[in-house]
Amino acid sequence: MPEMPEVETVRRSLIAQVKGRKITHVEIRYPDLITGDVDQFVEFVTGATISDVGRRAKFLLIHLDNGYTIISHLRMEGKYRISADPSAIDKHSHAIFTLDNGQKMIYNDVRKFGRMQLWNTDELSENKSLKKLGPEPLSTEFTFQNLKPRIMRHHKDIKTVLLDQSVMSGLGNIYVDEVLWQVKLHPETPANHLSDEDIQKIIEASNQEMDKGIAAGGSSIRTYVDATGHKGNMQNNLKVYGKEGTPCPRCGTEIVKIKVGGRGTHFCPKCQVVK
Ligand SMILES: [Zn+2]
Repeated sequence: MPEMPEVETVRRSLIAQVKGRKITHVEIRYPDLITGDVDQFVEFVTGATISDVGRRAKFLLIHLDNGYTIISHLRMEGKYRISADPSAIDKHSHAIFTLDNGQKMIYNDVRKFGRMQLWNTDELSENKSLKKLGPEPLSTEFTFQNLKPRIMRHHKDIKTVLLDQSVMSGLGNIYVDEVLWQVKLHPETPANHLSDEDIQKIIEASNQEMDKGIAAGGSSIRTYVDATGHKGNMQNNLKVYGKEGTPCPRCGTEIVKIKVGGRGTHFCPKCQVVK
């Protein structure tokens, strides 16, 4: 699944290629991609100019100059591709936006889990999906004061709590494993056992992991490719995710993989302790 650094990488790539471009034609080939009325989506988007491309956690926000925003969630396999080449369109291309420079912004999604929704830009904070998101790394709201009560009210394991997008948003399975390794916490530690120092470390490690992820152009563990077709190389920086059976980079103990809250979880059984 694309995580926040991947979505940020896609955002930067899109902004460079589509900002200021007018959308002259819209074709929706898979109607279920659109949450809400498809005809209305096509009607409102056609003729609008892309004024900016923003992001909230893992949601891309394609702002239009007519007061509407396309909220786009890539989910498992969604990708954007910008191309003028007709061969770039295939059976997995579910939305095709023709731009005024002859290029097409093509949304591909092999697994069809991604969704797009048109929303009034002034009322984005009221959108059901965006409203429930907790503070995200690298934002001004990502502070100890905001995070401590959100984490400490849970007695579930910290892995599940950090994955809960209403507690903090943007971190998925890969980065939560990496953050917990960085801060030396066992993923099954009850969240309300954390000290202030643990929470402070989680904040710092989350910011660092997101920074590193963005600098590396995202992870390409799965089939993620940015809008220019480049694969990210974040997987080279991962310390525990997908590294079961290999030595911990800190202490040499073999990394193990267990299930926590139903999710595959990688950690070092020696240097990550339960509190
Ligand atoms: Zn270790």
